[in-house]
Amino acid sequence: MNDRRLLLCAPRGFCAGVNRAIETIDRLLRATSETVYVRKQIVHNRFVVESFERRGVVFVDDVEDVPEGALVVLSAHGISPDVRSRAKALGQRIVDATCPLVTKVHREVQAFVRDGYSVLLVGHGGHEEVEGTMGQVPGAVSLVQDVEDVRSAVVSDPQRVAVVTQTTLSVAETRDVVGALKRRFPALREPPKGDICYATESRQAAVRALAAISQAIIVVGSSNSSNSGSLRDAAAGCGACAYLTDDPSEIEPAWLGDVQTLGVTAGASSPEALVKSILARVKMIEPAFSVENFGEPEPDIVFLEPPELRHYQPMKELIDANY
Ligand code: SF4
Repeated sequence: MNDRRLLLCAPRGFCAGVNRAIETIDRLLRATSETVYVRKQIVHNRFVVESFERRGVVFVDDVEDVPEGALVVLSAHGISPDVRSRAKALGQRIVDATCPLVTKVHREVQAFVRDGYSVLLVGHGGHEEVEGTMGQVPGAVSLVQDVEDVRSAVVSDPQRVAVVTQTTLSVAETRDVVGALKRRFPALREPPKGDICYATESRQAAVRALAAISQAIIVVGSSNSSNSGSLRDAAAGCGACAYLTDDPSEIEPAWLGDVQTLGVTAGASSPEALVKSILARVKMIEPAFSVENFGEPEPDIVFLEPPELRHYQPMKELIDANY
């Protein structure tokens, strides 16, 4: 088959929140010789987590798994205040790598509850971001996972209901769920700006355009990555065969067999090195694919580092400061 194309989507891969979280750990590793503990996966990508483990980082499920007084980083997905209290009670030194766009949702929840609203959170049950957001005001936030849940949602006053969402959801599905909420609660309050973050929106818009001209899409991302799963769903929603993988060896010749145009994108937690490994595997199976860029990269967005990092200067900077 001639003229087979592999279109590499932009924007793809790391977002500002993931960059900030990864740089936070990297900075700590360069600044201190003590063990760096991280509560949960810093971002939902196996490749990233394993590369930090090789550098001595210890990932734990909760702060009770961290020694008293130790240094613990909180992941990009955010936490409930209860986690912070428990870490403080154990004398742990916290560096909070919660993405500022997740913190924004936490503040919205607190403000809505303060104003007497029942808050409905559209999101995926069990996801760490959802646990952190629901935990902002325990008992005041109810989870709505789909249109079915809209029918059964219980609120104290239908005139005072507000909605917030997880930051990494499918734009199309969230629109449906929020639409159903508006029909049931016409006075529904929403945050002034939506909660689905810029990186989720821009990657989904790009993959939809790519899926419209591709027979198959490979999304580079781990199965527990919400934004990567949303990319796969967005591509599938446009009629392409869509696959999600973080392991080049999972790519099967059958995925590529009749495909003339193959799209490749990456979730916000997937490093470019992993994308390159996936491309190498595709080219090994089907050398006829020629690689081309598709779409436009987004402008660089950089979030301020966690304020706690000021206590952890990289060794080289410390040396430079002395001269
Ligand atoms: S996907 Fe969005 S909310 Fe999540 S870390 Fe990236 S910028 Fe922040």
